[in-house]
Amino acid sequence: MGNPMTAEAHSDHEREVLAPLTGSQAYMHRARGVIARGVASAFRAASRPTPLVLDRASGSRLIDIDGNSFIDYVGAYGPALLGHNAAPILRSVLEQAERGTLFGAQHRGELELAERLVEMVPSAEMVAFANTGSEAVHTALRIAKAATGRQRIIKFEGHYHGWIDPVYLSLPGQPPAGGPLPRPASPLEALPPASDVIVARWNDSDSLLAAIDAGTSIAAIIMEPIPCNAGTFMPEPGYLQSVRDLCDRHGIVLIFDEVITGFRLAPGGAQEILGVTPDLTVFAKAIGGGFPMAMVAGRKPVMSVAAEGPLQLVGTYNGNAIGVAAANALLAEIRERGSELYQQLDHVAARLAGALTDLAAAAGCPLAVNQIGSVLQLLWDPSLPVRTYDDFARADPRPVEDLAEQLLTRGIYTRPRGLWYVSAAHSLDDIDVTAAAFEQALHEVAPSWN
Ligand code: PMP
Repeated sequence: MGNPMTAEAHSDHEREVLAPLTGSQAYMHRARGVIARGVASAFRAASRPTPLVLDRASGSRLIDIDGNSFIDYVGAYGPALLGHNAAPILRSVLEQAERGTLFGAQHRGELELAERLVEMVPSAEMVAFANTGSEAVHTALRIAKAATGRQRIIKFEGHYHGWIDPVYLSLPGQPPAGGPLPRPASPLEALPPASDVIVARWNDSDSLLAAIDAGTSIAAIIMEPIPCNAGTFMPEPGYLQSVRDLCDRHGIVLIFDEVITGFRLAPGGAQEILGVTPDLTVFAKAIGGGFPMAMVAGRKPVMSVAAEGPLQLVGTYNGNAIGVAAANALLAEIRERGSELYQQLDHVAARLAGALTDLAAAAGCPLAVNQIGSVLQLLWDPSLPVRTYDDFARADPRPVEDLAEQLLTRGIYTRPRGLWYVSAAHSLDDIDVTAAAFEQALHEVAPSWN
């Protein structure tokens, strides 16, 4: 279809497709004059035929300013684990707001949250507060550097850890470099000094060994323990244990970035499922139930540099009462619903993945759906099974982007890069409606790509 905001003339078909989205289009036109790309986070600008402008959200549904209703699989980029505006979270936040939102002092919710998290997460003995995933990653790296007295970190190709300089490189979607050199996110962005970051290939012990050889003085290895941003697939049996052993041997702090997987895959995060525990874990997204909230959890010997040592962890909004109230409500809900919550998420997500896979096969499309719990990644023509970032990078993103566009015009909101989240608010009826739209979308897209 082409980008409607840049195309001067639209065909009759384009006009028909865009007619229901005229409010969003007009908004974006104005917003581009005063907001970079018209959006608050650049990833959102990729949505076709136009970035949506929303009026409200509830459960599994979004309503845009034109009054269109969408079944939502973007899930606010991960936080909407219980669905949008989940009642227990809203209740807790509204009650808290009446008593105060930000104190500049301690409040009971902080300790309640810290103790709950320590109870639930296998490797957590002590916590620190932050507000977003990026900030919490920054905090974890700073703790690791202070605890080891070293500077260098190892990051993996395609793993995403937020927008801070030391990790905003070799990002998902960039071609693999196949070596220890970081790739800048864009030609204009400076890389950290080569001495600071080494990039390795995940699920590949040799690559990690080479990275460790290449750099003495490594403070931390940071990874998504299940790389949801880089293909959504499991570690090879024994791989994580080999990383754990390497870290122990070399005195390196192992950081699991569980910003996506934390509380989404299990009450104790991916580490509960995988049986290998890190020294530090980063949580954000789901833990805040839709409010800004992030945490770093760690073992006492590593955290002691901040608890008893000279490192000071600071921040005006750290432990803000609203984010804490939301997190406490989320964790209470998880404890109350127990395994039933995760079984439901798995069941609905598996039904969705199965439906998409079957429809693609029936249409003769080489589409695979990697599903782990409530996280799905659509891949077009991958060299299955995906076990490295190179495999993931071989998939063609364009047909999946086209599918997202076709789905959007049929009332299904997904990310163009094919990373879908199911929430506890999605029903099997939602899945049936989605499947019907997906069949039509495939029908439109298949002739161009098959
Ligand atoms: N880590 C991971 C694994 C993420 O997916 C993200 C965000 N997509 C972040 C860190 C950064 O979180 P935030 O956007 O809240 O800064």
